[in-house]
Amino acid sequence: MKICVIGTGYVGLVSGTCFSEIGNNVACVDIDKKKIDKLNNGFVPIFEPGLEELIKRNVKHKRLNFSSKIEDNIKSSDIVFICVGTPTNKKSNQADLKQVFKVAKLIKNNLNKYKIIVNKSTVPVTTGDKIEKILNTKKNKNKFDVISNPEFLREGEAIRDFMYPDRVVIGSNSKKANSVMKNLYLPILKKRSRYFNCSRRAAELIKYASNAFLATKITFINEMANLCEKSNIDVKDISIGMGLDERIGDRFLRAGPAYGGSCFPKDTRALVTTAKSFNTDLSIVKTVINSNQNRNNLLNKRILKLLNNKINNKIITFLGVTFKAGTDDMRESPCLDMIPFLLKKGSTIKYYDPSGEKTNFFINKNVKFSPNIKDACNGADLIIIHTEWNEFKQINFRKLNKNKNLKVFDLRNLYSPSLMKKINIRYYGIGR
Ligand code: NAD
Repeated sequence: MKICVIGTGYVGLVSGTCFSEIGNNVACVDIDKKKIDKLNNGFVPIFEPGLEELIKRNVKHKRLNFSSKIEDNIKSSDIVFICVGTPTNKKSNQADLKQVFKVAKLIKNNLNKYKIIVNKSTVPVTTGDKIEKILNTKKNKNKFDVISNPEFLREGEAIRDFMYPDRVVIGSNSKKANSVMKNLYLPILKKRSRYFNCSRRAAELIKYASNAFLATKITFINEMANLCEKSNIDVKDISIGMGLDERIGDRFLRAGPAYGGSCFPKDTRALVTTAKSFNTDLSIVKTVINSNQNRNNLLNKRILKLLNNKINNKIITFLGVTFKAGTDDMRESPCLDMIPFLLKKGSTIKYYDPSGEKTNFFINKNVKFSPNIKDACNGADLIIIHTEWNEFKQINFRKLNKNKNLKVFDLRNLYSPSLMKKINIRYYGIGR
């Protein structure tokens, strides 16, 4: 099967590489020539555990290649995956579909034989209909099927998620397209995942509904954490006690900072806006969005309180700045709200992140990247554990920082409060 994956970002690069790993001939294409050059020179432009080895192996076996020649690769493919970005349009809060429609037009002009056009980007209900309308010229009649195949991978665990999915959702009522897609996914379906075929519109909504539900779970436990803080209960006990109920489950039930990343914030916003266009009020999702935004303010206030409102000239260290562990993705990371707030109050920020220095902070001389945990912790008044990277789980803070008044604010509840007390660290967690 010859596949063309358009958009070589987190989703396109992982999907394309994994499809090549299961024996397909894949071209990953992108308008970003620098990205393609990097890949062709052996560099992987994103941080995703295990991806580099997989790319190397499949390039070596000539099943995977990277190219800026998008049109040629569309022409020579049987299946074309659309994996471009769908960010929030800041004015309307809708998903901005410019990139998707641009690609659809390019496909329209290069349909030389029957192809399945698979939309993997997260898009609002009816986008598939609109793509079909773009492609549907006289010349292109009966030469394509447009289907929806939402992607559920998580950054940091993307390869495992792709190769061992809980489900593969295919939105299409074309028998021909369905049979090709089932065959394509067959090698990973054997590993007990469920292939679910539904309408194209349903597949589009399944993705948004899933993300909104997970965002709700996180927001729910974060609100419980607020209550726990005031009632002398450890929220970890609540998560465990609730999670033991199989109807609830323990995943996405860990209290922490506001949810961030490239999906939940933009997808919850887009879902509410789409529903509005169908005269439907999604009051629960709206409340989740508000509660999550308030969480940033709440944690900022908590930091002020921890430092007795004396924040000017204080050195605050962030351990981890990405929105979660295992990725270099900074999109809508909670610290992008916290750090500017703390800078405005006169503090200096140091940070260390295992995925490297971030361009987001280049413009501010009061934000300094440390090359390791030791350097980051040295001299700090307050250390904020922002991301749950494994290497942050066993730090001897006393050894790295001699400041008697050192405070540690653990947004991920990685440490035991009683153990921290024993070594005289003023330790604060979330919901405990
Ligand atoms: P990304 O920004 O990392 O990658 C998108 C890529 O598309 C970029 O490399 C960009 O240069 C390229 N591109 C844009 N316009 C193009 C064009 N006209 N022709 C060729 N290439 C073009 O985005 P992403 O994180 O991979 O997300 C892609 C989609 O998948 C989004 O809709 C997102 O919501 C969804 N999604 C993302 C994740 C995730 O964890 N990142 C998970 C599931 C679904």
